[in-house]
Amino acid sequence: MNLLLKNATYIDWKTLSFTEADILVQEGNNGKIKLYYPGEADESNVEIVDCYGKYVTKAFGNGHHHVYSTLSRGMPAPPHIPQNFHEKLQYVWWRLDKALDLEMIKASALFTAMECAKNGVTFVIDHHASPFAVEDSLETIAQTFEKVGVSHLLCYEISDRDGEKVTKAGLEETHSYLKNHQCLMGLHASFTINDKTLKSAVDLAEKHNSGIHIHVAEDRIDQKDSIEKYGYRVINRLKKFGVTDLPKSILVHCIHLNDEERNILKNAESWIAVNTESNLNNNVGQFSSARLGDNIMLGTDGMHSDMLRAAKSTYFNCLRIDKTSPDKLYARFRNIHNYTYQNGINGDGENNLVVLDYPTPTNFNADNFIGHFVYGLESKHVQHVISNGVLIVREKKLTKMDENEILENSREMGNKLWGKLD
Ligand SMILES: [Zn+2]
Repeated sequence: MNLLLKNATYIDWKTLSFTEADILVQEGNNGKIKLYYPGEADESNVEIVDCYGKYVTKAFGNGHHHVYSTLSRGMPAPPHIPQNFHEKLQYVWWRLDKALDLEMIKASALFTAMECAKNGVTFVIDHHASPFAVEDSLETIAQTFEKVGVSHLLCYEISDRDGEKVTKAGLEETHSYLKNHQCLMGLHASFTINDKTLKSAVDLAEKHNSGIHIHVAEDRIDQKDSIEKYGYRVINRLKKFGVTDLPKSILVHCIHLNDEERNILKNAESWIAVNTESNLNNNVGQFSSARLGDNIMLGTDGMHSDMLRAAKSTYFNCLRIDKTSPDKLYARFRNIHNYTYQNGINGDGENNLVVLDYPTPTNFNADNFIGHFVYGLESKHVQHVISNGVLIVREKKLTKMDENEILENSREMGNKLWGKLD
């Protein structure tokens, strides 16, 4: 059934214009919205949501997430305290992802989808790793996200770090999922991918009109490895194999780049996903957009599912390093929609909306929207969320799933996972 958001103030996410309107929201993938003068819409056969005093705008998207890290929150410290980025991967993340099974992946996806939905995020680009539960992992995440009502662009994080058998499983899982779904070819990072695997991944991406989703130059180790093994830097390597020519490709982090690499990316079709809080947490350096062009979007790298928080932390971090204006920050926050539209990706259409209950101490309008975006709007203001025209969050609660059941299940699976780590 279509929705009618009555007495709303609609904020156009591109022009930032404010319009008093009743908004008819069509249900279904890529459904449309239509604005009516208040009281003029046909109210038969629609579900009415009263939005008096509320602001309605386009829902949010996450350009780089990790469902697999959900059950790490509060987990016991590893046997060896990591001293650098590579040890963090070895002793924390690779230890954790090796222990995941399908049941735990499902619990991780449910919690992540719930958190995304409640924070107004209706479209998620995820990068998944579970080396000993590869088969069916993508379908498990997809079905779980859809139960909550969150749209997705998934991939399996292929890597040579666990041997040929696991690499092959990752390629097969992606290939089988790609045949019937939109998804990307996931690669962990240049330093865990040999040339043969990289070529196989790009060949598959090209064959299925997909792109490569890969961590790039997050830490200096990525560049050091590429120079030592192949004689050139990471971006040159990815360009040589055609990764940067694919408009769906997402290069995550891109911190340690030289001028030549920046120039390649500036002229490339591919996109960059920035994950500020993760970079701060891992102490790997800070992203700079200098000489990189405009194909830049934001993600959370599995740290959390709150894109308004990610935008603020990116902005404050940018003040010193990147000198990005608030307008540019907002453009990056919204760039995921340009990525999905330009690439014909489903699930991020007009009929994905958030209803914000935002009691502001000052005037709020088109002229000062950006100031409120940086200093005022938070996820606590997200009242209702509409995904593909369906109300998936009403009054801050999921409509399609029981939140307590999700939490109980995820705690049970968290204990199971931590038990396997001991
Ligand atoms: Zn990541």
